[in-house]
Amino acid sequence: MTARRRILVSGAGIAGCAAAIALAERGHDLRLIERQQEWAFASSGIFLYSNALVSLEALGALDEVLAAGFVVPQGRNPYLDHRGEAIVTTYYPTAAGGRIPAIVGIKRAELHRILAARLSAVGVRVELGTTIADLVDDAEAARVTTSDGSLHTYDLVVSGEGLRSPLRQHVAPEVEVRYSGFGIWRSIHERPTDLTDKIMQMGIGTRLGIMPISDDWLYTFGTVSDPDKTRHARDEWPRLMREALAEHHGPARALLDEIGTHSDVLYTAVEEVVLPLPWHRGHVLLIGDAAHAGTPFMGQGGAMALEDALVLAECLDREGHLEAALTLFGRRREPVCRFAQDVSRAVGESGAQVRDASVRREEMRAGAQDAVDSFYAELDRLRAETAPG
Ligand SMILES: Cc1cc2nc3c(=O)[nH]c(=O)nc-3n(C[C@H](O)[C@H](O)[C@H](O)COP(=O)(O)OP(=O)(O)OC[C@H]3O[C@@H](n4cnc5c(N)ncnc54)[C@H](O)[C@@H]3O)c2cc1C
Repeated sequence: MTARRRILVSGAGIAGCAAAIALAERGHDLRLIERQQEWAFASSGIFLYSNALVSLEALGALDEVLAAGFVVPQGRNPYLDHRGEAIVTTYYPTAAGGRIPAIVGIKRAELHRILAARLSAVGVRVELGTTIADLVDDAEAARVTTSDGSLHTYDLVVSGEGLRSPLRQHVAPEVEVRYSGFGIWRSIHERPTDLTDKIMQMGIGTRLGIMPISDDWLYTFGTVSDPDKTRHARDEWPRLMREALAEHHGPARALLDEIGTHSDVLYTAVEEVVLPLPWHRGHVLLIGDAAHAGTPFMGQGGAMALEDALVLAECLDREGHLEAALTLFGRRREPVCRFAQDVSRAVGESGAQVRDASVRREEMRAGAQDAVDSFYAELDRLRAETAPG
């Protein structure tokens, strides 16, 4: 390590927790604040592909994630049509010669329980209910007053504040959150024991995914096109989810039929942050969704946030000068994150097209596995291309 830095991480989501773990492990002086009084998640489950799991291993959290989550056997992802008839089965890549599985589904709360345990192991306490009240960023340092009234000086302030990061105002005030045109419905169900794959059902303009997140539970997620960004009343969500995805039969049918007023249903109007470099200004850096929130169709937001954290730690190790370290960070991360964002958006748009089912079936049979393989190969290539020699 070149220098022990005083670092404030604002936001204890995936990016903020991972950054705090990686940086504290390297000996930096870390403070982690989180706006919420108690951790709560506008999401039930998350799936993590092998690249996210590689990062979790580097953060010392892989074994716990594998134990708490659900490992999809062989990374199998059957695609069915809306009637439930098979189109094609794709297989996601494993990592580390097969030692690290291809896909794990896990409850968000479990992932955070595991990250919190790692934070505590590296000596970082999450200060809940705390935000930045004032920040003065001058040539020497960032002087930050937090909502508890204390004033501290930091060499680096990292925003892991997510999509609506207030710190983005400091770095790129001109950038606005973009609505993607898609909404996503989600619901939680008991997992039938024979449902072990990640399943995608391709409807006419809608897509429905089924993903185990533990031995007992699975979640469904249904994507709909909603150019008008309709506001749905919360108490209507269960009925609206059932109606929006009514065309789906096959394994989705019984799950959709189960949804009622008692159900755990969520609706999210999906938004993006498309931010050209630089992702930093002065002593403030954006990581995770604060810098590059994308649509969730490739399931890569969590992986990108975790990779940001580890690359940031490497860049600070490598470059003694903060400006050089943050510039290197942006150069390494922006091409990778932008590629994941672009592919995810394209997948969402193609899934929303109303198309002849037989043409789509033939196209998917011919190209779906190649699309998976080439996506992961390109991520690897971009990481290698941007890594310092
Ligand atoms: C519907 C949907 C499904 C998704 N599914 C997947 C998936 O299956 N796999 C996957 O990898 N990714 C998925 N993603 C993307 C993934 O959720 C995000 O990319 C990831 O959570 C980003 O983490 P983050 O830490 O950057 O931001 P966040 O998770 O948004 O965390 C930000 C944290 O900062 C806190 N905060 C906000 N403002 C302040 C403030 N002013 N001060 C202090 N704290 C603050 C928040 O309370 C929060 O705890 C999905 C996204 C959506 C919308």
